[in-house]
Amino acid sequence: MKKIKNLNQYKDVWVFAEIKDHKRVHPCALEILGKGRELADELNQNLVAIVLALDAEQYLPTIKEHGVDKIIYLSHIDLKHYHERIFTKLVYEMVEKYNPSIFLFPSTEAGNALSARIAYRCRTGLVNSVLNLELDKKLGDLLLTDKPAYGGDIKVKIICPNTRPQMCTITPGTFKKKKLIKNNIEIIKENYSFNKEELKIKIIGAPTRKDKPSATLSDANFVIGGGAGLSSEENFEKLFKLAKYTNGQVGGTRRPIFSKWMPEHLQIGISGETIKPKLYLAFGISGAIQHVVGITDSDTIIAVNTDLNAPIFKAADYCIIGDANEIIEGLLKHYEIEE
Ligand SMILES: Cc1cc2nc3c(=O)[nH]c(=O)nc-3n(C[C@H](O)[C@H](O)[C@H](O)COP(=O)(O)OP(=O)(O)OC[C@H]3O[C@@H](n4cnc5c(N)ncnc54)[C@H](O)[C@@H]3O)c2cc1C
Repeated sequence: MKKIKNLNQYKDVWVFAEIKDHKRVHPCALEILGKGRELADELNQNLVAIVLALDAEQYLPTIKEHGVDKIIYLSHIDLKHYHERIFTKLVYEMVEKYNPSIFLFPSTEAGNALSARIAYRCRTGLVNSVLNLELDKKLGDLLLTDKPAYGGDIKVKIICPNTRPQMCTITPGTFKKKKLIKNNIEIIKENYSFNKEELKIKIIGAPTRKDKPSATLSDANFVIGGGAGLSSEENFEKLFKLAKYTNGQVGGTRRPIFSKWMPEHLQIGISGETIKPKLYLAFGISGAIQHVVGITDSDTIIAVNTDLNAPIFKAADYCIIGDANEIIEGLLKHYEIEE
């Protein structure tokens, strides 16, 4: 049975600094560090990044530029890829040793899997895919999380009053990265200790993704998004044609995936990709919160919708009230004439 500690024993704001494709710190982790800095300042506590990777030292300079007071890291060949059992054991041991008050994770495959396991072991609460974080002064600086519920129709506020750490995962693109270098950053290297005999499964090759796109949406400069308003597969196909002419990337809402007009990896939003293009064209998209959280970092958003009251117009810089199919047709004609 887990020993109950006094809540006052817990302090500091921790961020799981996930390493993406064993190449770079996940952009979402850097975004969360920006928000974590604000929380740590308000609490007058430390912001701590947790890193587990092969050659973890190479990622420390980037993390140091994002406002941390402390980095605790583990470096080992077994940490090259995320492994449920290894990461859970090692991170849980760190939590038990240092007692963080708040622990934030990117809402990624690894972040979601790891945070759930850590929360279970700590017998604490976990809020997934939150849209905002603040401290509730009236409740003694408890972490107050905003989360969409019932398909995004309502937003709920959730606290974790009786157990620690207070944990949540954050959708990529929710917060902005903030560059800041603190004085005297403390670096702690933890020892790797994992008995491989404990492993019930072994990873014998690098993870691969069956339907990985050749160019990723999250890195695209120009994204053309389609939604249910395009009304047929035939109309949706025209987006791909337009993307070819314009060097764009097609993405969209969940609805065209359900209708099998586009593959799953092109979904933009809370359970899909977060995009940051210079231009996002949204055709026939209503602007549900689950979609909008994935597009808010676009430099410019142009939305086309027949409904003047469509929520997408609140997120858009330019609003065109009209038939998306007619406009796509017009654009295609323009490029066909030029060809
Ligand atoms: C847990 C959960 C996770 C989810 N994750 C995601 C996610 O990651 N990404 C995502 O996108 N969704 C996600 N969804 C679904 C989301 O809630 C919405 O249902 C979805 O985004 C709506 O897609 P849409 O805008 O294409 O369709 P609709 O909401 O049906 O909107 C269609 C729009 O097209 C307009 N329109 C109709 N005809 C035309 C025309 N001829 N020209 C122009 N406009 C026209 C309509 O006015 C309407 O605004 C999630 C839902 C849940 C419950």
